[in-house]
Amino acid sequence: MNEGDHDVVVIGGGQAGLAVAYYLRRAGVDFLMLDAEDRPGGAWLHAWDSLHLFSPATYSSLPGWPIPPSRSDGFPSRDEVIDYLTRYEQRYAFPIERSCHVETVERDPERLCLQLRNGRTFTARAVVSATGTWSAPYIPDHPGRELFRGGQLHSAEYRSPIPFAGKRVLVVGGGNSGAQILAEVSALAETVWVTLKDPVFLPDDVDGRVLFERASARVRGDFDQASTTTLGDIVMVPPVKEARDRGVLKSVRPFLRFTIDGVLWADGTETHVDAVLWCTGFRPATGHLRSLGVVGPDGRIEVVDQRAVEEPRLWLQGYGNWTGAASATLIGAGRTARELAPRIKAALQMPGSFI
Ligand code: FAD
Repeated sequence: MNEGDHDVVVIGGGQAGLAVAYYLRRAGVDFLMLDAEDRPGGAWLHAWDSLHLFSPATYSSLPGWPIPPSRSDGFPSRDEVIDYLTRYEQRYAFPIERSCHVETVERDPERLCLQLRNGRTFTARAVVSATGTWSAPYIPDHPGRELFRGGQLHSAEYRSPIPFAGKRVLVVGGGNSGAQILAEVSALAETVWVTLKDPVFLPDDVDGRVLFERASARVRGDFDQASTTTLGDIVMVPPVKEARDRGVLKSVRPFLRFTIDGVLWADGTETHVDAVLWCTGFRPATGHLRSLGVVGPDGRIEVVDQRAVEEPRLWLQGYGNWTGAASATLIGAGRTARELAPRIKAALQMPGSFI
């Protein structure tokens, strides 16, 4: 049974979904949000205990209501971000239904039909997908992985270094997750850091604020300002600086293959390993859109101005630069949502528009 028909349904109630809700409300568009979690916070609910934003609070706000100053070092903690997103949602009283995982989105001539895991269905003239990446962790193929009898954990499931105390741990991945997790695990365990190439460490005075400005410049085509840094380059947050001082920020190139209890390197030597921590990133969580035939092998969807080329009733918000400059960050989500909401409103109002 169809439980509701709306002009717009926003799938995902993390920071990207909240930002678009703010501007849809301001544009006077009827919408409903559906979120898989049972409470506010999006991916931050699953982040590891010590995670802090790598942008200062002044650079980490959603539209309309700034995040309060951080009680710690100016860089809000995971719990402070969850608290902010919770209070933001309450402040604006957005229409949001929780524990609602959208399984598929299907076409009918008039509407897009959303089928939920819990059996409920909704219809909409337009859908904004803002489901982030956290629920689609990526682990690259490594020969013999199925043979390895030690523990394996993706950063999506990592909470703290305690379970790794006294063990030998392979940390795979050269981005911020890899560097931050290596930093804290190496204080309790013997670590080997595996990266495809030498990691890029940003200067100590560069934080997420500078990365955001450079990402925006790159999207504008302003290559003078863009420099060559990317959001994946490593920000020297305090635990990473401290790990550098301990001399553990040294990485090696990937091993040839797994063995039963470790890995085999190109020079023929073997290392015994108790556990592997995969800090190898995420893909867009777009499985619910596969039924529309618009999702590429890497989870991305071809878009122009955040609108799916193959399905004009579908819009994408968040995920990464392919949907707008730094759109996976708090501040970038606000900027892309500000442009998105009027585009959706105009499409809904277009005479003869089929949406
Ligand atoms: P999410 O927060 O993942 O929200 C998506 C929501 O959609 C979730 O609630 C999810 O449950 C729901 N969902 C998913 N699929 C479905 C479905 N099929 N049906 C219904 N609901 C669904 N960001 C910053 O802004 N600043 C920083 O300084 C920063 N530092 C970071 C440092 C590190 C080391 C890491 C790893 C990340 C950092 N991030 C930072 C990034 C940030 O954590 C994420 O990019 C951000 O949470 C993405 O927001 P989102 O709303 O797009 O997705």
